[in-house]
Formats: sequence, C-alpha cells, structure tokens
Amino acid sequence: MIIAIDGPAASGKSTVAKAVARRLGVRHLDTGAMYRAVAWLALEGEVPLGDAVVLTALAEANPVTFEYEEGEAIATSVRIAGRDVTAEIRYPVVDANVSAVAAVPGVRAALVCQQRILAEARDMVAEGRDIGTVVFPSAEVKVFLTASPEERARRRRIDLANQGHEVGQDEVQQRLEKRDTHDSTREASPLEAAADAEILDTTGLSVEQVVDEIVRRAEAAR
Ligand code: C5P
Repeated sequence: MIIAIDGPAASGKSTVAKAVARRLGVRHLDTGAMYRAVAWLALEGEVPLGDAVVLTALAEANPVTFEYEEGEAIATSVRIAGRDVTAEIRYPVVDANVSAVAAVPGVRAALVCQQRILAEARDMVAEGRDIGTVVFPSAEVKVFLTASPEERARRRRIDLANQGHEVGQDEVQQRLEKRDTHDSTREASPLEAAADAEILDTTGLSVEQVVDEIVRRAEAAR
C-alpha cells in the first residue's frame, strides 16, 4: 500500500508522514530530501542552476540513498555521491535554490524513477509535491495537507531555530511563499492536489488529529 502525502512547504507533511509511518510500521520516504540532495550537490559543484542538461546528468549519475536501521520506519541519513548530507540539505542556501533544481524535467524524471524503485514491493508513506499526481497515481490513500501561510511560517521558523538558524517570521513567510509560487507554477509536475486526494487544512488541528485521520483511511483501504 502507498500512502501519498503532498502539500506546500511547512504544511506539516514531514511530521505527519513520519508519525503515520511509525504507527503503521511502514517505511517513510521523504522525496523533498532527494531534490534537496541534488540541489546541494549542484551548489557544492558550482553547477549553474540554469543548466538543465548538466543538472539532469548530475541527478542521473548520483542516486540518492537513505539509510534505515533494522525494522525502523524513518531513515537515519540521506546520502548522495558518497557523502552524508542529512544536515546540509536543510541549510537555508538549499531552501533558497532547491525549487530551481526541482523544476528541471530531467531531474524530476531521474528522481521519480528512483522513488518508484525505492517503493518496489513494499508499503510506503511517501511525502512530496507530486506523489499522488505523478509518482504514485494509484496510491491507495492520497492526502493533500495545507495550513495558513502564517501558521506554516511559524512552524518553519521554529524548525530553523532548532537547527541554529534564527530568521524572522516575515522573512520566513516570504521565502516560503516564493518557493511555493515557484513549485506551483512550474511546468513539470507542479504542486497540486490530485483530483482524488483528501484536502486536510491542518491550521487548527493537532498533529495527533491529522495522523489519526490518515491512519483511519489507511486501515480502511487495507
Ligand atoms: O518537502 P521539502 O520542502 O523538503 O521539498 C523541497 C523542495 O523540493 C520543494 O520546495 C520542491 O521544489 C521540491 N520537491 C518537488 N517534488 C517533490 C518533493 C519536493 O518538487 N515530490
């Protein structure tokens, strides 16, 4: 069974997807981490982010891998090109540049192919922007999470502060809006809810309430 969780930046996808994966005892797949890893590699190699051919070759030649401990639902690390980039892919410089890399059709094709291989013959809770629309259109459960821009900026500011990056609320909100606009207006698999996804506005809801709702749907679909 595939549980697809899509939504804009800081809509609560990661927290919710990880909790659902733990509750159901199935692997969690963070597809955003894969785009971030390719963006990090491009920045590290000073690849011009407007060069779709080089970016595509980079994504094709450097598969992203996740390490899971025995029987665990959540990956402990993300690797690309022989490097553990678990911390680096969350840096603000990656936040600011990942959408440009993710808009390249060849990069998307390479990563979608890797995502399908990672989910082969196993249940998975996959989170991203195009999981229910493109990667796994026949996922048994599809959820599109949203939250108000203020709430999303509040959540992201707290995440960044916990990682040692102090950024003001307004600046965080502007950066999120910029990334969402880029992600929703690109030609290749833009951020959008699948026609058959359940849209869940998490603004006034606790993580527990959202997780319960998705687990309930997953159990009904089993
Ligand atoms: O989910 P996260 O915020 O970590 O994703 C980082 C970026 O990766 C998004 O802003 C988007 O540009 C890209 N992405 C995507 N498709 C996915 C997952 C992420 O385009 N399935």
